[in-house]
Amino acid sequence: LIPIILHFIFSATTPYTTLPSVLLVGPSGAGKTALLTLFERGPLYHNNNPAVPTPVAETHTSQTPSTVELAVSTDRPTTTYRTDLDATGATAKKFLLIDTPGHPKLRRHALAHLASPSATITPSLLVSPAAQKGEGAETSKSKLKALVFLVDAAALADTDSAALSSTAEYLYDVLLTLQRRFLRRSGSRAPSNVPVLVAANKLDLFTALPAALVKSQLEAELSRIRKTRSKGLLDSGEADGEVVGGEEGEGWLGAVGSDKFSFKEMVEFDIEVEVIGGNVVGDGPGADKWWKWIGERI
Ligand code: GDP
Repeated sequence: LIPIILHFIFSATTPYTTLPSVLLVGPSGAGKTALLTLFERGPLYHNNNPAVPTPVAETHTSQTPSTVELAVSTDRPTTTYRTDLDATGATAKKFLLIDTPGHPKLRRHALAHLASPSATITPSLLVSPAAQKGEGAETSKSKLKALVFLVDAAALADTDSAALSSTAEYLYDVLLTLQRRFLRRSGSRAPSNVPVLVAANKLDLFTALPAALVKSQLEAELSRIRKTRSKGLLDSGEADGEVVGGEEGEGWLGAVGSDKFSFKEMVEFDIEVEVIGGNVVGDGPGADKWWKWIGERI
């Protein structure tokens, strides 16, 4: 009887389908798959190992997003993704970390899910677009708690590459989608907020920009994009079919009338943006601060 009761309690309190979720977005090559793998395997690594475990699995170049189920401790704030919560007896809160494809042609799908004012997403549809057509497909909703936008801080440092402009274009669309979601809220009920972590990855590389510079460079580039788009200079081809444009005057990100864009402007739309540096492989600050940020928002 006890196992049955336990099973009932377990499935009644932590049903897979209602777990909250965190969306992992960012351009291809930023390290999303590597980060997902690191967090998923976390408890396999020694808790007292200060170095980021290497190597992480060879990442696959999948076209469809993948999801892992993770757990944060609610009563032990010092635990990391490496902690085996079962072994320590900590109270855990489960959530889904959902990786999305970074390829420009496939971003629309992830952005469309963000647009919903209900702040819920349907993980199964994100994970398997084919499931959308399938009979009896699992369509239960998951509450979107946060968004992690992963950036390759080493690529941003390379001024010859288009990494800064293309990364900022994507970030612009993500933030604009969340801003519109806020503006389209119905009645007085604001949609629950979706905080954004800009995770500056690959800080193990000496060529990488430190987080503060990633922040200022992105803000400068977002200012430039905002000006360009408001002048209508971007032709629709360049926008690559993403959720941009829309009705006139809707493409302005952040505070109206501001000259230089700052992430702080997003607070007006109940969107908190924080930039934190880290790395998935190699020696560096690691991923602990990102994990902590996520844990505080689950
Ligand atoms: P995705 O396209 O965003 O899923 O990126 P991947 O996870 O496939 O990573 C792209 C490449 O960056 C892979 O070769 C990873 O090993 C590498 N990578 C990911 N994170 C780091 C990091 O923190 N430091 C370094 N040096 N390389 C990384």
